[in-house]
Parts: sequence; C-alpha cells; structure tokens
Amino acid sequence: MSGMTSIKEIYKIGRGPSSSHTIGPERACKIFKEQNNDADSFKAILFGSLAKTGKGHGTDTVIVKTFEPTPCEIEFNMTDDNIPHPNTMVLVAFKDGKEIAQTRVFSVGGGYIEFENMSPERLENVYPHDKFTDIAAYCKDKSIKLWQYVLEFEGAEVKQHIATIWDAMKRSIKNGLEDEGILPGGLEVQKKAKTLFNSQHIDESPETRQNRMVCAYAFAVGEQNAAGETIVTAPTCGAAGVLPATLFYHQQKSGFTDEEIYHALMTAGLIGNLIKTNASISGAECGCQAEVGSACAMASAALAELFDLTIDKIEYAAEIAIEHHLGLTCDPICGLVQIPCIERNAVAAMRAINAVNLSSFLWNSRKISLDHVIHTMKETGLDLSSRYKETSEAGLAKIKL
Ligand code: SF4
Repeated sequence: MSGMTSIKEIYKIGRGPSSSHTIGPERACKIFKEQNNDADSFKAILFGSLAKTGKGHGTDTVIVKTFEPTPCEIEFNMTDDNIPHPNTMVLVAFKDGKEIAQTRVFSVGGGYIEFENMSPERLENVYPHDKFTDIAAYCKDKSIKLWQYVLEFEGAEVKQHIATIWDAMKRSIKNGLEDEGILPGGLEVQKKAKTLFNSQHIDESPETRQNRMVCAYAFAVGEQNAAGETIVTAPTCGAAGVLPATLFYHQQKSGFTDEEIYHALMTAGLIGNLIKTNASISGAECGCQAEVGSACAMASAALAELFDLTIDKIEYAAEIAIEHHLGLTCDPICGLVQIPCIERNAVAAMRAINAVNLSSFLWNSRKISLDHVIHTMKETGLDLSSRYKETSEAGLAKIKL
C-alpha cells in the first residue's frame, strides 16, 4: 500500500516519559475500557520492551490509572520473545470472575497503537506519496513548497492543529525552564534546564550562547518529559526536545512569526511521517536512531524551511541529520528516559543546526537521497540486537549508578 496518513499522528500532546510505553498503552487501555464498560476487573500482560523497561517508564502506573476505578492486575512477561512486535501487550477484561474479552495490542511508536484484530486506529492515507523523491517531484512540478504540499492534502484545518502543537511545545519549554529539583525514578538526576538558561558568562561568544540556549530549551522539554509532565511527541516523547528547542531558539533570535513556525512544523511533520511509514520511530523497534535520529532530521528540515531553503537543501539537511545517527542504540539506564536521553536531545538539537548549515553549502555535491538513508536506518535497526532496543539489557544500561 502506498501513501501516508496525516502528520497529526506525528505530533501528539500527552504525558511523558515514553510515547510507546505511556501514551500508546494509555490510549489502548482507554479504548479497551470503553469497549468493555461492564467489566469488573482487568488484566494487562506486558511483553518485550514493555515488560523489560515498563517499570522505569511508568507503563504499569499509567495502565492502572487509566482503568481506575476498575482494578487492573499487571503481569510483566520477561521471557516470551515470540511476539510480533517488541512493544506487545495483552489486555483482558473480566466480569464475575469470567473472561469476557481479550485483545493483543502493539504500541508501535510515537503513541500510535495497532490492535491485532480490531484495528480501530487503522487510519486513512491522506497523502498519495510515501517517498521523498516523489513528493519533491510533485512539489517542483507545481512550484509549491513542502508545507504547501501538506496543506493541499491535509486541508486548511491542519493549521489549527499545528498552532495547538506549537503552543504546547512552547509551554513545555517555559515550564521546563522554571522547574528545579530531582527527577523521579531513583537515579537522582538533577534538573538542569534552568541553570543552563541562566548561566551566562561575561565573555560568552555568540556561538557558545547559541549552544547554551538551544541546549537549555532541549533540556527543558526532556526534563518535563522525564518528570511525566505534558509534552508533544516529535516524533516521540523521548525525543520531544529536539524540534521545539531549535525552532524556539530561532524564533527568539530572529523574530520568525508563529505562521512561519507552522510552515516549518508542517515540513518537519512530513519528514517524520516518511520515516514512520518507511522505517520506524520506535526505539524498541530500531533503537535511538529511530527516535532522536528522526527528531534531528525533522528539526533540520524545519530549520531549512524556516530559512526558506530549496526543497533539495531541505532534503539534504534531513539526510545529514539522520545519516549521522545511524546505528545509535537505545539503552536508557534503569529504563528511565533520563540518561542518555535528555542530554542526547540537546546534542541532536545542536547537530540539526549544523546539518542545515552544511546542506546550504554542499547540497549539489551529494550522492545519496533521504529515501536511501531512511531505508538504511530501518535495515540497521532490524540488524541491531534487541539488547540495544529499549530493553535496558546492554550498553549504558549496564552501568550501575
Ligand atoms: S535512548 Fe533514545 S530511544 Fe531510548 S528511551 Fe532514550 S531517547 Fe528514547
């Protein structure tokens, strides 16, 4: 099947810390609860990454809260690897001690869920294309920009959605910059966004200031996410800081209007959508290259759009961004979306800015396309050992703090 669904699926407002471990399961449980409103108890069995890092990500807590006041038992199945997706859960409804319904659900990344039998979220494709090359050819033929392509196929109402998203992104930055203290979970990680924002040195160069501010904004969102506060998936919770940090910094610096930011967000959404459709935006499926790598590609494309660069330069910026995240593993310590996740958002935000600079100089000497790199990201992700895909079994996750 060709084509792509709405970019609204990329941007979701919800509580952190993990789109696949909290937002996805929460949405699945809400649907299952509505379908079984006569049940007097529920059970959720978590498999794969949901079982192995579900405690750190708060999956159990969010499921219990969603079913409340009806009780829900949680079972963590750490041993059964014979599952169709690394984020699999089985939901069971009971009445008077008898099972009345059961379903298997996959949390496939970015808060998006797929039910094995019911498929209530199988959405219509709104775009006729699913490769950047085809989209670029269409846009060049009609002399339109990428954001105008989004408007053409999504309809004008998508702008209202994007406006709400930008407001929520700015709110998460603002809240994060005001927040202080220790993140929950037991690692005793200090919130640093406020300190970064305020620690100006007397002889600070413009470049150092840029890095510090961009990082402060990325830390702000990453810390809000880790604290279970409201953020926007872009394309996931764990990678939610990259895109807003780069856009907010440039809006503050150069006075871009909200309207111009909406255009950038539409283009970024298109890039995230291409990656979701042709590869993955799930750390459990393809590692952190699929989360922070995708976020960096989205941020690079957004900035290139903001700077009014050509479609070829936008493509190259996104390609550079994702290419240099290839192979990046997902190995959060204690299954918490804190180390390395928060800092990684800041590094990716700086990298997005560099990718745009490089693309504007070197775009006409490139040899490979964004479609190639997205395809490679998927292949690399599938080759990665599951120990490096949000199971907290290897890499940094082995460090005992
Ligand atoms: S390491 Fe990357 S993919 Fe894994 S939880 Fe952290 S941000 Fe998400």
